[in-house]
Amino acid sequence: MKKRVFHDIHEECGVFGVFNHPEAANLAYLGLYSLQHRGQEGAGICSSDGKQLHIEKSMGLVADIFTEKRLKRLPGHIAVGHNRYSTAGGSFLKNVQPIVANFALGSLAIVHNGNIVNATEIKKELEMDGAIFQSTSDSEVIVHLIAHAKGDSAPERIIHALSRVSGAYSLLVMLEKELIAVRDPYGVRPLCLGEVDGAYVVASETCALDLINATYIRDVEPGEILIINENGLKSIKVLQTIRKAFCIFEFIYFSRPDSYIFGYQNVNETRKEFGRQLAREMPTEADIVIPVPDSGVPAAIGYAEESGIHFDFGLIRNHYVGRTFIEPKQSIRHFGVKIKLNPVRKLLEGKRVIVVDDSIVRGTTSKKIVKMLREGGGAKEIHMRISSPPTIGPCFYGIDTPTRQELIASSHLVEEIRRYITADSLTYLSLNGMRSVLPDFDDYCAACFDNNYPINFPGEHLEQLELSFR
Ligand code: AMP
Repeated sequence: MKKRVFHDIHEECGVFGVFNHPEAANLAYLGLYSLQHRGQEGAGICSSDGKQLHIEKSMGLVADIFTEKRLKRLPGHIAVGHNRYSTAGGSFLKNVQPIVANFALGSLAIVHNGNIVNATEIKKELEMDGAIFQSTSDSEVIVHLIAHAKGDSAPERIIHALSRVSGAYSLLVMLEKELIAVRDPYGVRPLCLGEVDGAYVVASETCALDLINATYIRDVEPGEILIINENGLKSIKVLQTIRKAFCIFEFIYFSRPDSYIFGYQNVNETRKEFGRQLAREMPTEADIVIPVPDSGVPAAIGYAEESGIHFDFGLIRNHYVGRTFIEPKQSIRHFGVKIKLNPVRKLLEGKRVIVVDDSIVRGTTSKKIVKMLREGGGAKEIHMRISSPPTIGPCFYGIDTPTRQELIASSHLVEEIRRYITADSLTYLSLNGMRSVLPDFDDYCAACFDNNYPINFPGEHLEQLELSFR
C-alpha cells in the first residue's frame, strides 16, 4: 500500500460544541462520550471563560482521558470537543483536536469532521508563503486560511477561508466569546443544533443531545454558518449549495442507531428498512437470522421481520474490544475478529443460517465469520446478506475506507467474493433497493457504491482510484 502524502485523509470524527452553559466542559465531555463511536483514537476539549481558551487533549478514549482533575482545568461557559478516528498514517497527539491558535483577532479553537479534498494543494501554497504546520491533519489548513484571511470579524474570515476549501466539513470554531458552526454546502457530514437550559448545543449526532437532556432544534443546513454569541443565534447562508450530498454511509454504518440525521431521519429505522428490502430482494429458506453485532443488528431485525424467519443473537460480541477495523495492521485485524466475536453453538448447530452485516470492505471479517459459524457454531448452511450494495469506491470525504485495490468488490464479482468468504450464498442490497428506502436519494453521496463522486477532488487522490487488475 502506498504511503499517503502530506495529509492524512481519514477524518471521520465526532464534534460537539456548547455556548453559554456554566458546565460547558462537562457537557462537552458527555457529548463526546456519546459520540465515541465516531472516533476512538484521541479526544480533546477546549473551553473559554470569555477571556482565555483552555485545552485538554490526549490519545485514547474519552472516559480514560478526562479525569475529574482534567475537567476542572477547563473553566468557562463555552466549549468545543472532538473525537478523532484512528488513521492509517497519522496517529499523533498533534493531530488530535481541538486545534488552538492565536491570530489577529485573538484565540480560536477548531474541531472538524469531514475531509478537505484540496488540503494538500492549499497547504503547499501556504507553506510557500511561510506558514508552518504542526500536524498532518487537513483541518489545520482551515486554521491557517482563517489566520491569513481578510476581515474584521471571525465570521468574515471564516467565510473567506472556506471559499478556498473544497470537501466535507462539519466545523465548529470557538473564539473567546463566540461559537461558530458551519456545515459544508453539500452537507456531507451530519450536524445538529439543540438547546439545554437556555444554552445552545451543536453536535454531530442527536445521541449527544439525548445524554445531556438537550432538545433538538434542527440540523445545521448545508452551506449554513451559525454564529452564536451574547446576542443570540444568527444564521448566514453564503456558501453556495449546488447540490446536497449527505453521506449514505452514515446510515449504513457510521452513525449510532438512536440518532436522527439528515433531516431528522432515524438511523435504526433506516437500517431496518434496508434489511426488510434485502429480504424482499432475495427470499432465502433458512432456520435462523443472526446479525453480525453490532453493525448488522437493525438490518437483521428488519430482515427477520420481513422474511418471518426466527431472529436470534448467534454471535456474541465482546464489548470491551475496540472496533477491529481501526487496528492499523492486517495481522492484528485477523486476530481481532476472533477476539471480538464468538458463535453460540446451541443456536446454530445443524441450522441453515442467514447472517446479516452492513457492509463488506476488504472481506476479511466476513471470511472469518463464516469460518467461525461453520467450525465453532456447527452451522449447516451459511447465507451472508449485506444490507448495502458492494463497496467499490474509496471515500474522499471522511469515511475511513481503504484504497480501491483493497476494496474486494471493486475487483471481484459477487460470486468470487462468495467463494472467498466461503459462504453458501452471498447477496447484497441492490442500489435500487437502497434508493427505494431513501426517497430523497438524489440528495445523498453514494460514491462508495456507484462511483459517482459529487465533489471534485484533485489528482493526488487519483492513485487511490486505480484498479490493481481488471
Ligand atoms: P472487512 O473485513 O474489511 O470487510 O470489514 C467489514 C466490517 O467492517 C463490517 O463488519 C463493517 O461493519 C465494518 N466496517 C465497514 N466500514 C467501516 C468503517 N469505515 N470503519 C470501521 N468499520 C467498518
